[in-house]
Parts: sequence; C-alpha cells; structure tokens
Amino acid sequence: MNEPFNPAVLTSARNSRTRTETDVAKATGVSQGLISKVENGVRVPSRDDTAKIASYLGYPLALFYEPGPVDTGRSPCPYHRKRKTLPATILNTINGRMSVRLINIRRLFHGLEMEGDRTFHTLDPDEFGSPERVAQALRTAWRVPYGPIRQLVTLIESAGGIITSSSFGTAKLFGMSQWTTTDHPLFFLNADTAMEELRWTIAHELGHLTMHGFPTSGDLEAEADAFAGEFLAPRSLIFPDLKQLTFGRLPALKMHWGISMKAVIKRAEVIGAIDRAAATRLYKQYSARRWNNAEPYSLPHESSSLIREAARVHFEDHGYSLIELADAVRLSEAELRRELLETHAAPLPLSIVRG
Ligand SMILES: [Zn+2]
Repeated sequence: MNEPFNPAVLTSARNSRTRTETDVAKATGVSQGLISKVENGVRVPSRDDTAKIASYLGYPLALFYEPGPVDTGRSPCPYHRKRKTLPATILNTINGRMSVRLINIRRLFHGLEMEGDRTFHTLDPDEFGSPERVAQALRTAWRVPYGPIRQLVTLIESAGGIITSSSFGTAKLFGMSQWTTTDHPLFFLNADTAMEELRWTIAHELGHLTMHGFPTSGDLEAEADAFAGEFLAPRSLIFPDLKQLTFGRLPALKMHWGISMKAVIKRAEVIGAIDRAAATRLYKQYSARRWNNAEPYSLPHESSSLIREAARVHFEDHGYSLIELADAVRLSEAELRRELLETHAAPLPLSIVRG
C-alpha cells in the first residue's frame, strides 16, 4: 500500500453503509472535524485512524488507498432507472455502493483479458438520425437474432459488459451503469426488481452507454427509453403482434418479448399500432387489476456469469484462496462471498484468460 490515502473512497464507503460523518466520529473516536477535512482532501488521516474507520465500515484498510477517481467514466446522465420520489439518502447509499463495487470489479478483472466477438460501441444518435436507428445498428453489429432477445444478460456479457446485482433496499431504483476504467461497463442492478423491469433497465442503460458519450441536447432519459424499446422489441418485428391489441393477449406478449405488459401497451402506442384512446382503455384495465406495483406472469430469471468466471480463473489458474481474493478486490471475505460469488450458475458467454 504505497498509494496515498484516497478521500473520495472514504466518502463512497461511508455512504455505502448509510453512515454520516457524525456516526463515524462517534463510533471511532476520530473527531468529526478531522473526518470532514479528510473527505475534503484538506488533511490526510493517520494509518491508525484510517484502520479504525475501515474496521467500523467493514472494509479492508487497503480500500482507502485505492488510487484514482471512484466514478471514472460516469456519464453526465445520472443513468438511474428510478421512480420519482426516491429519497436522497437512499440514492447516496446506492451511489456509494456502486463506487465501491466499481473498485471491486476493476480489481477483480485486473490482469484478465476477455475474449469475445462482440464489443461495446459508441454511436451518435444525431448521426444515425434517432435512438431507434442506433438500437437497430447495435442489433446488427451484435448479430442479434431476428426476434425477441431471450437472454439479454448473456448478450451483454458476451460483449464484455459486467452485470452484478444487489438488494438495494428500495423498490424505487432499478439499477445504474458506469464505464469501468476499461471499455467494459458495469451494470449494477437491484436484485429486488422483477425480471421484466431489469431487462428494460439493462436495455435503457445500454442506450445511455452507447449514445451518450457525446454532448447532446436531447432528453437523455427519453432517448434511452426509445433505444430500449427498439432494441428489445423492434418496431418492424413487433408491429403485427400489437395491431388491434387486446387486454387478454398481454400475458402472452409479455412472455414472448420479455417486456412488461405495461411496456407492451406503451410500445403499441409509441409505434402507432394502437391509438391513444385504445392505450388509455388498456391502461385502465391494467390499473383496475392493481398491476402497477406487481405484475403477474414472471419471466424466467436470467443469471450472470462473468464475475464468477473471473473468480474461478483466480482460484483455479492463479491459485488464490478466498481470503486472498477478498484482499485483492478490497472486500471482506463474507461480503465477497455474499455480494459477488453467490449467484446462480449460467452458461459462459465468452472466455476469460490470463492477460
Ligand atoms: Zn437513464
């Protein structure tokens, strides 16, 4: 640990545990004034004080000496698929957890190379004419089969996108995304969210990542949703399914296209398959069944696998023990196991080799 103390990491780590400067001061005996100065980069804490804070927050000491900004590549868009009225404290917590997770992931993949035949692209919607055109271009570049995308998580991972989920403790935020220092974006998703919402969130974030590296005057959220709709359910393919849409066909269409029944209604209206009045009638039937908070007809769960595969390479090819890997990624052993390794098995979308 020859790197200097990183004040931004302290702020993120503290937020990730939903702790105030006062909480940290009380629990550790380090004065609140010092903590404030430390977070503002005015003072550097002693190794002893840092160790007390690290222990209280439940992170390895080395995390706080992790170099570099903790939100490199975060776009001007907040990248959040969130419902309105999300309290600022919860958003701070999730942002803090995202920043720590970004460090963990960077460290986990350090020295590994992903060998796949897809990559992420940055495509300017102004140049292509619309977010829908960008979505079509990406489907072509990624050779997405004609029709619905059955395994969206696997598709993203096959391009080197890293998907991880965690319980956010709120139903108001579905997920966010961010570039790692390399060209592998990290999707941080709320594990408490229904699969159809996660799929839309992933596609929406993919829209941001693909289109919004450029300065744009457009409505970023609307563009990302337009991208998501066309990427998951291209107009030319879904239009025949949505003509004269009736309420009774919503469940089958949800299962087929992998988008929520509400999104099916919206998509039908957006692409002009039904008119405003018809959409309103369908929304009313939908609301009358109280489906706004929890839709019936669950989609099959889609598992991610890249993180476990990277861990496997470290364990099996590099001979890491669990505690060594935890040290390497800057997490406690228990948190590494709980947050990154305990996921369902899924087929591997690409191969990871020693770099
Ligand atoms: Zn967004």
